[in-house]
Amino acid sequence: MSSDQNASLRRDLARLVGSESVLQPSDYGPYTHDATIQRGLLGTPDAVVCPPDAAALARLVAWCYTHDLPIVPRGGGSGLSGGAVPVGGGVVCGLERLNRVLDVDPGLWRLSVQAGVATAHVHRLARENGLLFGPDPGAAEQSQIGGNLATNAAGPHGFKYGPTGDWVTGVDVVLAPGELASFGGRLHKDVAGYDMPGLLAGSEGTLGIITAVRLRLRPAPQRTLAAAIFLADLAAGQRVLLELLGGGLRPAVLDFLDAAALAVCAGTFPGEVPPGSGFVLLVELDGSDAEVTQQAAELLSLLAGGEVLGIQYPRGAELWRWRASLNGAIAARHGGKVSEDICVPVEHLAEAIEAIHTLGSEYSLPTCAFGHAGDGIVHATFMVDVAREEDLARALAAGEAMLEVALGLGGSITGEHGVGWVKRHHLAAQLGPAASEAHRAIKRALDPKGLMNPGKNYPLMNP
Ligand SMILES: Cc1cc2nc3c(=O)[nH]c(=O)nc-3n(C[C@H](O)[C@H](O)[C@H](O)COP(=O)(O)OP(=O)(O)OC[C@H]3O[C@@H](n4cnc5c(N)ncnc54)[C@H](O)[C@@H]3O)c2cc1C
Repeated sequence: MSSDQNASLRRDLARLVGSESVLQPSDYGPYTHDATIQRGLLGTPDAVVCPPDAAALARLVAWCYTHDLPIVPRGGGSGLSGGAVPVGGGVVCGLERLNRVLDVDPGLWRLSVQAGVATAHVHRLARENGLLFGPDPGAAEQSQIGGNLATNAAGPHGFKYGPTGDWVTGVDVVLAPGELASFGGRLHKDVAGYDMPGLLAGSEGTLGIITAVRLRLRPAPQRTLAAAIFLADLAAGQRVLLELLGGGLRPAVLDFLDAAALAVCAGTFPGEVPPGSGFVLLVELDGSDAEVTQQAAELLSLLAGGEVLGIQYPRGAELWRWRASLNGAIAARHGGKVSEDICVPVEHLAEAIEAIHTLGSEYSLPTCAFGHAGDGIVHATFMVDVAREEDLARALAAGEAMLEVALGLGGSITGEHGVGWVKRHHLAAQLGPAASEAHRAIKRALDPKGLMNPGKNYPLMNP
């Protein structure tokens, strides 16, 4: 689009939703990228609009649909798959002004918020009312609850508490060609019709724009106990992981770091790392006082086989602050990194981690792995020296090869961050022909013109 066409578009959009909702090109900066900026992914919006409410958003979608303009929904822009990046232009719809808390019913364990409310605020609201909202993705001050549902985000506590979709009983959405619709509601159980909130979970803005969510919370656990279990190597880590799972332990968190990740971050660990440690499992037990005491005893008895080098019990807040610092510390090691969020069956965790290091040798890149062991989610990480341009290209190629390894192990190309733009060419290989066609049919039914976040998730969905 020429700059004259852009200016004319902005005038049309201002008439539609108010001039205060339409950004000037000088303010587009943050809307040209998400957290994949570290991979160099940038887009060019034709316009950026932040509607004040769902009705204005519906008018905007209707107008774009009539004028064949792509629509790119954007939450907090913390995505790691390029889903909110306007790679092919289009109108970016910022959801940040839809930031009202609609209702809080602590006694009934319910909370309704508009889509633009920050994830961290949802956590605060739940906590202040003695309740728990389980999904805990890492960029919680930046990400929005609508973006969390659109990516079906989880985090360390996803092992026990599942992804965002598991906590949603109802959703308001703007569907093409500009219709406001509500699915589900406040009922904790409702099996009437298709599971539309479930379909929107992980849809990455390709089926509609979420404007509000109704959440089912649960009482906050009375007590938590964090533990770091140190092991000599990957093989011991795999064995102990399977013993804990097979033994019936159900911790809230069951994360891991391999030797290379531990080497980067051991200096800041809130406690003592036993000499010779080559793998660590991070565990959080939660529940009533009595339940935590009982689980802690079970944990010790399951670990009694003699493989463990040491167990530390740091304060939970300190351990999880350290865990949250890993991403930054690993990226800082050489200046940058490419991390893929593959997921494999837990029994193949060690094979996946070995494959990362093999690929690292092939592509001459330092590597490490960390993630959510209980779910089989591995942040397959290739570290890059930002001063060497060729490093990034090699890391991206190694990351792509890692997706194939994940599929070969019966896993998934993404356990957390979604397909978005960066993994769009790999989804068909995971789904196979029949499931791909079912995806295409759903896309055609809900977005016949293919204007909702085109090219994301599954490019062949666009007619
Ligand atoms: C440091 C860091 C740590 C992270 N840790 C985790 C983690 O532990 N677990 C995890 O799962 N993810 C994690 N992420 C990724 C990211 O935070 C999540 O994917 C998050 O859910 C994205 O939310 P957002 O509001 O920022 O969405 P955006 O990045 O703005 O958008 C993501 C996708 O959702 C769509 N979208 C956004 N809002 C809406 C809406 N209202 N309606 C329809 N579609 C919409 C966009 O079009 C895009 O496709 C992390 C990211 C960072 C930077």
